[in-house]
Amino acid sequence: MILPLLAILLSVEPGPCRVTPLETVDRVDRDERPSGVPVLCYHHLSDRPRLFGISKWRLRSDLEELYRAGFYLVALDDLENGLIQVPRGKRPLMLHFDDGWPEHLRFLETADGGYALDPDCVLGLLESFCSEHPDFGRGATFFVSWDKVPFGQSGMVEEKLNLLLDMGYEIGNHTYRHSSFAKLAPELWEDAISLALVRFHRNLGLRTCEVRTVAYPGGILPRGTEAEARLSGLSYGGRSSVELGFLVNGEVPSLDRLLGSRNACLRVGRIDMSRYTVGKLLSWNSLMACGWGRSSLHDPLPYRATPLTGSR
Ligand SMILES: [Zn+2]
Repeated sequence: MILPLLAILLSVEPGPCRVTPLETVDRVDRDERPSGVPVLCYHHLSDRPRLFGISKWRLRSDLEELYRAGFYLVALDDLENGLIQVPRGKRPLMLHFDDGWPEHLRFLETADGGYALDPDCVLGLLESFCSEHPDFGRGATFFVSWDKVPFGQSGMVEEKLNLLLDMGYEIGNHTYRHSSFAKLAPELWEDAISLALVRFHRNLGLRTCEVRTVAYPGGILPRGTEAEARLSGLSYGGRSSVELGFLVNGEVPSLDRLLGSRNACLRVGRIDMSRYTVGKLLSWNSLMACGWGRSSLHDPLPYRATPLTGSR
């Protein structure tokens, strides 16, 4: 099943800086159209300068710029469903938040002794922006590693993980100890992925089947180690453990390539937004243009609907 989704995300290098106009494209030959779906990766959210960090103001500013540029938030299911949810005049975008830091999802104690979502954490900011801009879509993937208490606040992990799924967000596997696969012996990759899934299972039960993507710690998957064959063979609970694998390499994945290559699905490019800006992203010519959405339910899908792998 991974094969179909694979075609979506195959990496396309951020091409030379020939600015692509953002006007709607109605008819373009399929072989010539760019199919890049940017996957933006964020880590810390902090108002103090921090490695891999950006401020709350910057995150809000990024969302505003992306919205104005015609992007629409999609999830893995949308890729598999042929971008059926993307409205006409919009183009797909994915947001990722890595590591499970406390500022990604935080509860605040209320006066009556209960708990409420911190409006200044990532989830609170996303919910606020998406409610104000319903034509932006809604969704993001939170990649969790188990080298610390995910999202902080021990005792609330189960509630937080289930809350994310309840609200329609996605959870990804960022491994058990956040060890880089570039430094870890390939024989230990299975433990890094599977032991994390055991932890997810303790908190999510059967919903662990929804954790089907991996973000490689450090953003690197070594070559020359039969990595694709090794990762493709991993399973948990009868399902593939890695339907998509994400790098951090500053590349925009191409949907066409992802749908056509299993290996491409295991090396999906992402952009570290502590090093890039939305303005820079918009200057790349590999991005899917606006206008692939359907005006009618009877119109054909812009991309064929296919599962990511054959394991589901
Ligand atoms: Zn990480």
